[in-house]
Amino acid sequence: MKKILIIVVLINLFFNLFSQNYIVVLDAGHGGKDPGAIYGNVREKDITLSMALEVGKILTNKYNNLEVIYTRQSDIFVPLIERTRIANKEHANLFVSFHVNASKSPEPSGYEVYVMGNAKVKDWLETAIAENSVAIYEDNYLESYDGIDPNSTEGYIAFSLYQNQFLDKSLILADKVTSSTLQVAPFMNRGIKQAPFFVLYKATMPSILIEMGFITNQQDRIWITNKDNQKKIANNIANAIADYIINVDNFPLVEKTIAADKDTTIAVSSELIYYIQFLSSTEKLTYNHKIYKDFPSDSISYYSFNNAYRYIYGHFINFNQARDKLNYVKQKGYKDAFIVKFKDGQRVF
Ligand SMILES: [Zn+2]
Repeated sequence: MKKILIIVVLINLFFNLFSQNYIVVLDAGHGGKDPGAIYGNVREKDITLSMALEVGKILTNKYNNLEVIYTRQSDIFVPLIERTRIANKEHANLFVSFHVNASKSPEPSGYEVYVMGNAKVKDWLETAIAENSVAIYEDNYLESYDGIDPNSTEGYIAFSLYQNQFLDKSLILADKVTSSTLQVAPFMNRGIKQAPFFVLYKATMPSILIEMGFITNQQDRIWITNKDNQKKIANNIANAIADYIINVDNFPLVEKTIAADKDTTIAVSSELIYYIQFLSSTEKLTYNHKIYKDFPSDSISYYSFNNAYRYIYGHFINFNQARDKLNYVKQKGYKDAFIVKFKDGQRVF
């Protein structure tokens, strides 16, 4: 028994060492004693955390060979320099930092994505100064950031650009994230900008910093604090990241199959595949359930949709084949059975 355990441990170790996962670091801005921007009882640090976790959940649920590393997963303080240190140490491929903007006036609004660079316009530097100013919560911050005083404009003139070699790719990612987000969010597009951010400047991989609206603008604030809206843009940000990984980094992400149960899996195919859906259940059915007596267990599988398990029968490469079997399924007592289509492992409508 011990021998088997050791072998299993060794095999796992081997796969961990040699498995080539794509690593994305998701950085929830601020945290702990640093609340970020505040308006009333709305705190930037809460929005950034829920967004980072949501994007991470979508990516890890969808892909097998993608690893998400969070700089924080709870309300704790993490120094800016520590966030990039985590990413560098783990040899991450991508770094995405989540923030919400703020202004002294209630008017400014909209969505913008930053990449590391020297600010071309004074306004852009102001956002960087505001985000960098949290460094004063850290001990020895002057040492950490090459002697730059986070609150002084002059300090940034000599800012060295570690990120230059990743600029092109960072800009492409920023562009994909912006256009994907604005498909579902009503934010005004403030564009893609360059400015010197402490949290990005020593990252050794393409990196972006997202400012998801202004906490000081009423419309932006109401929209971004809504959980459903957060899920919507998290989904589109995750899609943009995956699009970048596959099409710009040419890394073949592998999608997880929907039903990972025994031998009943929905094939991931780029062709349309038809199934007969015959039952929905909010709970996963056990193997002594009636359906496993009505049908051979290798002919049924399930997928989840809208918080329910949808049980499906068969695997048909065209609609007519599925239609021919529909009566057979109905005769087993599932009168509402109907045909569903899948492509790339996802249901299509
Ligand atoms: Zn921030």
